[in-house]
Amino acid sequence: MGALAYDVFINDPPPEDGVLPNGERKLFSPMASTLIYGDRDAVLTDPAMTVDQARALGDWVAAHGRNLTDIFVTHGHGDHWFAAGLLAERFGARIVAAEGTIAQMRGNVAARPLLWDKVYDGIPPSPVTAVTVPDNRFTLEGHDLVIVEVGHTDSADTTVLHVPDLDLVIAGDVIYNGVHMYLGQSAVVGGFGTWRDAIDIVEALKPRHIVAGHQNHELDDDAARQIADTREYLDDAEELLRTETTAEDFFNAKIERYPDHLGRTVMWAGARGLYGVREHPDGDIAQILLGSWL
Ligand SMILES: [Zn+2]
Repeated sequence: MGALAYDVFINDPPPEDGVLPNGERKLFSPMASTLIYGDRDAVLTDPAMTVDQARALGDWVAAHGRNLTDIFVTHGHGDHWFAAGLLAERFGARIVAAEGTIAQMRGNVAARPLLWDKVYDGIPPSPVTAVTVPDNRFTLEGHDLVIVEVGHTDSADTTVLHVPDLDLVIAGDVIYNGVHMYLGQSAVVGGFGTWRDAIDIVEALKPRHIVAGHQNHELDDDAARQIADTREYLDDAEELLRTETTAEDFFNAKIERYPDHLGRTVMWAGARGLYGVREHPDGDIAQILLGSWL
């Protein structure tokens, strides 16, 4: 059995209209895809959203000269997989996800006309063709790839992919790396408790390397640092949710504390959602969160 290796591609965010409270143009967060590969075969994770991103990612995959067997999706958010079908077709690959993720993928397809297609051009048709694998395990040239279900983080039913032979966890949106986290979904479960539990599960896998779904390419993949940073970001958000009275105040305070973090647009959507739910306790949480992106 040969050794595995991995490589990360970070896609540019798609163009977007609108501005943030500080006057800055809205821009989605950078999105990371990982190619895990052996001598002949490869597996790709979280294959991006738009036609343009799929083309750039696909060309990068092709340059590795491996046979792409599977495309794995960590969770249902459209930015992580709406382009999966294009890449599956280009490389003749199967799309794999956990059962909970597949249900969330269907939900995200249903939300396309209300949300995704209102904000972004160029999202291809996105039929849900992903399949589950027995015991949440599949292999790459004889090496185990293990899907670990970690529950609610920035979305319901999220997972990570553990590659024991690389001491690697592909973390989707459970761990972030130098990018503002999407906090809005915590309104659904009343706080960050489930997210902290998910981080504990990742830590218990004892990875040396973590690939975060949203990351600044200038940062390394050290697992311990990213786990500590992600916990600190949540602690810090909890404090600011107590001390700041409006979404704008929260936005400004976060920027002051994290001046180098990318992804302010996502942070703003989360803040608007959380303060919107707070200000409308009898409102429909799903509607409020959805509206916070528009
Ligand atoms: Zn994401």
